[in-house]
Amino acid sequence: MIAKVEPLTTTRRLTGPFDYALPEEPVDVGSVVRIPFGRQRLDGVVVGLAERSEVPAERLVAPTAVRDESLPPDLVELALWMAAEYCSTPARALSLVLPPPGRARTELWAAPTGGANGKLTERQRALLERLPGPTGRDLPALRRLEARGVVTIAPRLRRRAPRVNVAADRPVELTAAQAAALDALRSGGSHLLHGVTGSGKTEVYLRTAAAALERGRGVIVLVPEIALTPQTVARFQARFGDTVALLHSALSEGERSDEWRRLRAGEARIAVGPRSAVFAPVADLGLIVIDEEHDPSYKHEGDPRYDARRVAAERARRTGAALIAGSATPRPESWHALPHVGLPERVDGRALPPVRVLDMRGANGPLHPLTRRALAAAPKSIVLLNRRGWSNFLTCRSCGKVWECPQCDVALVLHRGEGTLACHHCGHRERVPQRCDACGSLAVARHGAGTERLEAELRETLDVPVLRLDADTAAAKDAVPDLLARFDAAPAGVLLGTQMVAKGHDFPDVTLGVVLDADATLRFPDFRAEERTFALIAQLAGRAGRGPGGGRVLVQTMAPEADTIAAAARHDAEGFLAGELERRRALHYPPFADLVRVVCSAQDGAPARDAAARVAAAVDGAPATEVLGPAPLFRLRGRERFQVVVKTGERAAAVAAAGAAVDAAARDRALRDVAFAVDVDPQ
Ligand code: ADP
Ligand code: ZN
Ligand code: ZN
Repeated sequence: MIAKVEPLTTTRRLTGPFDYALPEEPVDVGSVVRIPFGRQRLDGVVVGLAERSEVPAERLVAPTAVRDESLPPDLVELALWMAAEYCSTPARALSLVLPPPGRARTELWAAPTGGANGKLTERQRALLERLPGPTGRDLPALRRLEARGVVTIAPRLRRRAPRVNVAADRPVELTAAQAAALDALRSGGSHLLHGVTGSGKTEVYLRTAAAALERGRGVIVLVPEIALTPQTVARFQARFGDTVALLHSALSEGERSDEWRRLRAGEARIAVGPRSAVFAPVADLGLIVIDEEHDPSYKHEGDPRYDARRVAAERARRTGAALIAGSATPRPESWHALPHVGLPERVDGRALPPVRVLDMRGANGPLHPLTRRALAAAPKSIVLLNRRGWSNFLTCRSCGKVWECPQCDVALVLHRGEGTLACHHCGHRERVPQRCDACGSLAVARHGAGTERLEAELRETLDVPVLRLDADTAAAKDAVPDLLARFDAAPAGVLLGTQMVAKGHDFPDVTLGVVLDADATLRFPDFRAEERTFALIAQLAGRAGRGPGGGRVLVQTMAPEADTIAAAARHDAEGFLAGELERRRALHYPPFADLVRVVCSAQDGAPARDAAARVAAAVDGAPATEVLGPAPLFRLRGRERFQVVVKTGERAAAVAAAGAAVDAAARDRALRDVAFAVDVDPQ
């Protein structure tokens, strides 16, 4: 027997698997090994075992070490599928699913048996109260109870990860709609759970998860961002306790590896986390939930550029698990592909808040007079402005100079609080200019308003606390949960921010929602602009009027007659989706075609353009494909960029053709300074 090993190297050209002799320790598919590789030592993953090798036996070497932790074989298969699906390499895909570094640690754990505890001392009773839990210094006392059959003591994997927050589990009686949804979902398979904001989707997830556990199956729950959706995580932890493992990036390395091992060992059966939790080592997977399935954070921006929603669907298919994609604003793709289960009303039967569209053409200042009045009257409101900073760009009134990033062809944004101009693409920062460095003029104009400026303006006019939530205020550790908790606890206040304020928050006392510059996202030159705009407005509207006080929503826009904005104002997701799908069908966009995007970048424009032209020519002629470009993109981080977009009805063939075209171009010495990025299903 020999082992087929995929070396974990970043070099694109080195794709295995390579044959190795078996080491002394037992290995299987999923074993993580240390291998001699040329003159180096690399980590590798065993992806297969075979009877014999083409390589003569005397030339085969064995791995030098085998790690304690191995990957479940189904994750190896999934990673190899992902490598092909996203035009990446097995090594890169495997490195996303590897066991985290660190060692497993165990501790002794005591649990009450529920048996004969009649004759216990006061102290022993107190001890039982805190169980189940680690034995710690009470081990001798607990051993005596163990001898009497009152508790059991056994080693268990240690858990360092903290609970997100300890909320009490509130048992609820299902509404008729929830019960019907649950019934439909119980049949298994994949479903779209389309429930309006506040319709109790989470309770449906919790019940289907409980049913999966009862059948002895494990569960994965994907959420957009833990920091922004602590309520969902808290409710899973409240209901299922230590059966829940939390996998998110804010955990320390040790915490994360403990959670991974608890899942791998089967001690935890529910994995909750953001997109990477789709790779959680859950055995006998029975259910994958994708909460807020419309959220863009499910797409990974590094190589492989996977979409956790697609990976989840593939993993569900391979394991026979059920899949639930839930949202109030589903993606056109899911609406088209999945059977729908609906929760058309809020749990309390309250109507969704009325939405009023305010025409901002010819307005001066960022706030409509009606918005001003409403903000002054409402005790608690949420305001969305999807643009951070003070103003969008600076110009010189004398010579017209626009302050731009030296690395990217985009305008710099003024951040007054920190006294800088910042590039929102590469992070470049410079001091705010006192005068124009081109003509010396002192007249520097500031254009547009971002969240920072609006915060100052609201502070001036309102006498309630104004809390700003955007990437700038969220940077510090724990800043987001602190901010959300402060807003939740305050009797009055404004939560102002970027799209972060429109996520699944459940604040029952918010009576006013405001969207400023609602058409800003519509102006993006992207076929998803409509979908994003609809979701943003409808989601923000869903934050208002969740309590007995009711609520209303104001939407300020320069495009009051735009269909997308009108549909969002009517809370008409179905109408929007029907229209959007028609448009996509006519224009051959997903879900009626697949897109593959290739970006070629280099210090100089010429080789980047040549490379893109080569790729375009090579892909052109593949069956059922249409090639768009090369088209220039704005310079980013000092690199000129050109993109080729392939629209195809033959996904696998187009992905393979793009991959082959890139590999061929990358081998050309004339193009050696060009970097290639292949993005399947670009966002
Ligand atoms: P969604 O995710 O659909 O926006 P949530 O799951 O956050 O809605 O539910 C909104 C609120 O309704 C939560 O506070 C939840 O505890 C509560 N809730 C859910 N189901 C019920 C029910 N059947 N009866 C009473 N309250 C419920
Ligand atoms: Zn000037
Ligand atoms: Zn920049």
